[in-house]
Order: sequence, then structure tokens, then C-alpha cells
Amino acid sequence: AAQIWYEDDGDLSVLDGKKVAIIGYGSQGHAHALNLRDSGVDVVVGLRPNSKSVEFAKEQGLEVKSVPEAAAEADVIMILAPDQYQKGIWENDIEPNIKEGAALAFAHGFNIHYGYIKPSEDHPVFMVAPKGPGHIVRREYAAGRGVPVVTAVEQDPRGDGWDLALAYAKAIGALRAGAIKTTFKEETETDLFGEQNVLLGGVNKLVEMGFEVLTDAGYQPEIAYFEVCHELKMIVDLMNEGGLNKDRWSCSDTAQYGDYVNTVIDEHARERMQYHLQRIQDGSFAQEFMDDQAAGAPKFKQLQEEYSNVRIEEVGPKLRAMFSWNNEAAKDADEANSF
Ligand code: NDP
Ligand code: MG
Ligand code: MG
Repeated sequence: AAQIWYEDDGDLSVLDGKKVAIIGYGSQGHAHALNLRDSGVDVVVGLRPNSKSVEFAKEQGLEVKSVPEAAAEADVIMILAPDQYQKGIWENDIEPNIKEGAALAFAHGFNIHYGYIKPSEDHPVFMVAPKGPGHIVRREYAAGRGVPVVTAVEQDPRGDGWDLALAYAKAIGALRAGAIKTTFKEETETDLFGEQNVLLGGVNKLVEMGFEVLTDAGYQPEIAYFEVCHELKMIVDLMNEGGLNKDRWSCSDTAQYGDYVNTVIDEHARERMQYHLQRIQDGSFAQEFMDDQAAGAPKFKQLQEEYSNVRIEEVGPKLRAMFSWNNEAAKDADEANSF
């Protein structure tokens, strides 16, 4: 069985007298910095020159420095910039300034697993990877709960790697939910697999295609939106509570029967998943992504443009604005629409 750690398994005093640098103040960065700070940890945020996030982090009462300065004074450096920029940040700003023996931390194993970042052996290297979006990591912590994490130690020169990882996980609130032991390899490969095949690449395309098939057949877009998008969250809530059996149990027998005999996700889909898994395992997905990024991300930008204009995205914003119960989420949504 997997090793799972909870609240009593982490000791915050491991971080006493230590400075934690959070590099980046985006989705994960703001959540880690604020949660650590509220847990009593000494935090400094490292941002690039002219960063649009400097004022934002300062307004929230955090100390902000340049990346080289933050790295130079830190005992633990958590890199929370986008994966494709981490190698450059490491080489230019962190590696030349990092203290002897300072720990390096990640929220995703990508750069260590695929070898884009190769820290020298005297640095502990650990991972605390929230299995949820950064804004939820902050929201749950503030509500007295936490988002579960997976955690791993890749380099452990002093033998305190796990103590650091669990203290860090506790400080961001994750041990309230649980931390599962993993490796950089397992986390990286399963994280990429999940987001590519199910969470994003699977669900997003199902929703998009379902909406188009219905509206092409002449049904009202408002109705189609409800059927293939809005209700999804309610089904997923039930799945989250009690698995597939609970979401099926709560739906009608008619719905269940239609589910069992549906052929959209068939053996062809399994074979495509295995294909994408293999591209993750052999590093070719990572290489394709990094090569495109190194060239200025032409393919990525083109795809972003294409997918941000699919038909459901035209009616979605108008419909959501009409939902009186949805105003709470409007702020995050505005941010998402401007990304
Ligand atoms: P974001 O895209 O939200 O990070 C943006 C932040 O990184 C901004 O503060 C930005 O600075 C900063 N940044 C970008 N480029 C540089 C640079 N060259 N030098 C310094 N800072 C830079 O990242 P995420 O939070 O999405 O991802 C961070 C890590 O967490 C990744 O490893 C990701 O895989 C992992 N992760 C992310 C999850 C998520 O919820 N998004 C979930 C679990 C793990 P500026 O403010 O100046 O623009
Ligand atoms: Mg993930
Ligand atoms: Mg991911």
C-alpha cells in the first residue's frame, strides 16, 4: 500500500530558523508563499526584474527580492515558475547564488526527471506537488483544509530530505488532506498522463465536441451548455466523494444504461492513451514541448489561439454571467480569460 502521511507526521520546527524562497508568484507560487507565511515560516518571494507580480506580493505582506538575491539567502528554494523556464532560471539566477547545502524543491518533477536541471549532490532535492490548482491550494488552506500532495525525495545528502518535505507539505496545509509518497519519475509521468488524457485533453475535448454535435444538430446552445458542461461539476463532485459507483448511483437507470452501452471511449481511446503514455515515458513529449518553447513557442501559441476560440467558449462567458450563483468564481474567471 502507498505510504500516506498526515498532520502529525510533519514537524514545522524543521523549518525554524530557515528561510524559504518561493520563485514565482503565479498559481502555485502565491498559494505556497501565503500558506507558508501563515504557518509561521520565514518566506521571501523571488521575482524577475519588472515583474507584474511584485506589487501584488507586497500588498499581501510578503517580502520580495530578485531571484538571485532570494536564492542567495534561502535554505529551501521552491521553484514555482512555469516548467519550461525553470532550467534558465536555475542556470542564470539560482545555481550561481545558491548556498552550500540549500535544498531545492519542486511542485512537479519535470525538470529533474528529464534532466533539464542537474543540481550538484550536496543539495537535497525534494518535491511537494499539490494535486490541485494553486488557487484552490490557497482557498482550502484559508478554509482550514488542504489540497493533497504527492511528495518525493530525489537527493538526500544529509538524510533530512523527508523531514524537509513533510514540514513543507504541512506548512502549505497539505497534510490536513494527506501526502502520498512517490518518486520524481512516477509523479512526472502520471501527472503528464492525467492532464493529457483525462483531466484536460480528455474532458476538455469531450465537452467541446459534445457541445458542437448538439448545436450542429439544431439544439439551443444554452441547453447544450448545461448538458455537456455545467452539469459536469456535479457529476465530478459525486465521483470525488464516492467514485464512479456513486455518480452512477445518483443518476437515473436510463442514464446508467446509456453510460454502459456508450462507445465513444472505446479500445481505440485506450490505444491512444498508451501511445501518449509511451511519449511521456521516452521523453519525446517533453522534448517536443521544450523545443517549441525554445523556438519562442510558435506551436503552443497557435494552439492556444485555436482552442481559445472553440464554439463553446463563445457562449460560455455570456451564460456564466447570467448564473446568479456563479459570481463568487467571477474573479478567478476574469483572470483566466486574460491569460
Ligand atoms: P505560473 O504560470 O502560474 O507561474 C507564473 C509565475 O512564474 C509568475 O510569477 C511569473 O512571473 C513567474 N515567472 C515566469 N517566468 C519567470 C522567469 N523567467 N523568472 C522568474 N519568474 C518567472 O506557474 P504554475 O503555478 O502553474 O506552475 C508552477 C509549478 O507548479 C510548475 O512546476 C507546475 O508544473 C507546478 N504545478 C502547477 C499546478 C497549477 O495549479 N498550476 C498544479 C501542480 C503543480 P511574473 O509574475 O513576473 O509574470
Ligand atoms: Mg497535475
Ligand atoms: Mg502538471
